Amino acid sequence: MRPISYYSTNRYLKDGDLKPFRENVSFKEALIMGQAPDAGLFMPAQLPSIPMEEIAGFKDKPYWEVALAVGRRFWEDAIPVDDLENMFRDAYNFEIPIENAYGRKYVMRLDQGPTASFKDFAARMMSRLMSYLRGADDHLTVLVATSGDTGSAIGNAFKGVEGIDVHILYPALEVSPRQKKQLDTIGDNVRAFMVDGKFDDCQKMVKQAFLDPELARLNLTSANSINIGRILPQSIYYFWGYAQIASEGEEVVICVPSGNFGNAFGCELAWRMGLPLHRLLMPTNENNEFPRFLDSGSYQKVDPSRRCLSNAMNVGHPSNLARFFDIYGGNIDKEGDVHGFPDLDRMRERIFSVSVSDEETRETIRSAYREYGLLLEPHGAVGWNGLEKYLETEGDFPLCLSIETAHPAKFPDEIEELLGIHPPIPESLRGLEEKTGEPIPIPNNYQVFKDLLLSFA
Ligand SMILES: *Cc1c(COP(=O)(O)O)cnc(C)c1O
Repeated sequence: MRPISYYSTNRYLKDGDLKPFRENVSFKEALIMGQAPDAGLFMPAQLPSIPMEEIAGFKDKPYWEVALAVGRRFWEDAIPVDDLENMFRDAYNFEIPIENAYGRKYVMRLDQGPTASFKDFAARMMSRLMSYLRGADDHLTVLVATSGDTGSAIGNAFKGVEGIDVHILYPALEVSPRQKKQLDTIGDNVRAFMVDGKFDDCQKMVKQAFLDPELARLNLTSANSINIGRILPQSIYYFWGYAQIASEGEEVVICVPSGNFGNAFGCELAWRMGLPLHRLLMPTNENNEFPRFLDSGSYQKVDPSRRCLSNAMNVGHPSNLARFFDIYGGNIDKEGDVHGFPDLDRMRERIFSVSVSDEETRETIRSAYREYGLLLEPHGAVGWNGLEKYLETEGDFPLCLSIETAHPAKFPDEIEELLGIHPPIPESLRGLEEKTGEPIPIPNNYQVFKDLLLSFA
């Protein structure tokens, strides 16, 4: 097969500040660049198609085997299959439970990785791909600004990975004590900077560093969810999950609780590679810009974003919406200005989205537990509620799969308050108190940060 190339979502943009980037690049280039020079996001120019018999054969296979079957179609031109196999075996050494709620309605838990969030799936693969594909003499420095969970998923995924240093910036006053402890204690090649400021300040420093020519020799790169290396691995678990619950060729409704829309975009790609979806559901929390867009046809970001219980989904303008717009024939920029409308009829036919309030999220945590014995945390509850709303408004559909994106033990207070129980703590979240490690405290001052970066190089 011809190697897959990647293009920028802004390649045809006429009225942007930056010159449209018209080249197609390799996966390696897209991975290391992160974002295209015209501020667009990279998209695969071709997609493999995976035959139905092969998908059906994924049943009862270990996850790494399915990952290899899908992933080699993207990467085998650059990475020998034996090496890919080693990467997948090493990255995916944890369980993926699928729970039955009632009838043929299922929940797939992507919360058994080292930081108990679905982000582990992409972060662990991305770290291995970056380490493998960087030039033999190239040392890379990953910079991440985090408000909590992304930082620990990335930090853990890159811990001990050869040839790559990771610097995490987090806002001193905006992370929970538990998140802080997780970030401070990763250690090894992963450094935590505790910034005397807000998340936005951390993000600003990271952005400034990327543009700073004096830091060019550090080979700075990003690992946030606009990177295509974070998206492709997120198409794989939909194949695996489908095969475990469906009969060959049967259609399924998949529900993905959504914030920056990277997880849901993985599902959209899986669909286009041959996964037989009936509908993709993308419920949001009270940041309802996307369901409103599907309803009204006009797009308005939520600014500032609303603070909801499902805090990893508090996004007022999802960055991966640019990819959805592109694949449905439109264009939207990072400010949320629409430059070309997507095919709305087709989008509405394929995608269903509703906004779920915090009140409904709480009620769903209660009712799912009471009625089906399902233990959900706020993000998964937004998902389950979205599925219920879909089944109410569009009628029943036999086979449905809803995604749980974090482990309930990450939200012990809410769970205890709502259900009166203590969620069992998975191995990965245990023993945090005994871990040691200190952050590097820095003022909200770019020059200080920069000098430190240079002193480590
Ligand atoms: C990041 C995150 C989400 C949102 O995923 P997107 O890909 O940004 O839509 C949902 N739940 C949890 C627990 C997350 O950490």
